[in-house]
Amino acid sequence: MRKKVIAGNWKMNKDLAEAERFIVETKNSVPSGDKVESVVCAPFPYLSALVEKAKGTDVQIAAQNMHFEDNGAFTGEVSPVMLKDIGVTYVVIGHSERREYFNETDETVNKKVHAAFNHALTPIICVGETLEQRESNETMSIVEYQVKKALEGLSEQQVHDTIIAYEPIWAIGTGKTASSEQANEVCTHIRGVVNGFVSPDAAEAVRIQYGGSVKPANIDELLSQSDIDGALVGGASLEADSFLKLVEAGA
Ligand code: PGA
Repeated sequence: MRKKVIAGNWKMNKDLAEAERFIVETKNSVPSGDKVESVVCAPFPYLSALVEKAKGTDVQIAAQNMHFEDNGAFTGEVSPVMLKDIGVTYVVIGHSERREYFNETDETVNKKVHAAFNHALTPIICVGETLEQRESNETMSIVEYQVKKALEGLSEQQVHDTIIAYEPIWAIGTGKTASSEQANEVCTHIRGVVNGFVSPDAAEAVRIQYGGSVKPANIDELLSQSDIDGALVGGASLEADSFLKLVEAGA
C-alpha cells in the first residue's frame, strides 16, 4: 500500500503571522505521519520559521521551487543545499505556473529533480496538459513526455521515492476539477509510463498525486481511485480547517 501524501501549495500568499498561525493550528491535529504525509509548501522567506514551528510534529515543510546548482553566481536563486540546511524536506518542481511564467522547461525540471535527490529532498514533480492539448487528444502523450524527461537518469530507488503530481492546467484555480475517472485515467497512464521506462517495482512504489481544484468536498472520491495517492492543493489549503480535512481524508 502506498502512503498518501497531501500537500498544500500556498503559492505567493500569506504574511508571516498568518503562515505561523497556520502551523500552530494544524501541527497537533494532523494525522500521524505513519498514516499520511502532510506537507505545507510555503514561500521562501517563511520556510525557516515554519520548519522551527513544525519541529517534532507530523507537518513537513516544502519549498515551491529551487535552483539546481549548489551555490555560485546565481543572483536571486535558492539552492537545494540551502533548503536542506534549514530543514526543508520536500520541494515542488516544475509547477505549471513556473513553466508558464518563469521559463521552467523539461530540462531544468530534470536537473532540479537530480539536485533534490543529491541533497535528500523529496521532489514533487508537476506535469499536466493545457485545455487545448486535452481537446486535441494530446493529454497522454504530453504527460508521458513530461514524466520521462523529468525522471531521466534517476536510479530505480530514486524513482521509488519520487512524487509526481498530475495537474491538468485547465483545472488549476478554476474550480473545474477533472472528474475522478478522468484524473485516474491519466494517473494510471503515468504509472504505466514509469513501468515501461523504469521498472514494475518503481511503478508500484511511485506516488502520484492529483491537483487542480481539490477541496474537502471532492477529495474522498479522488483518493478512492486506484492510482491517485494524494493531492497537491492550492486554494483549499490556505485555511487550517480545510487543510486538516484534506489530510484526514488521506489517513
Ligand atoms: P488549486 O491549485 O487547488 O487552487 O486548483 C492547485 C495547484 O496549483 O497546485
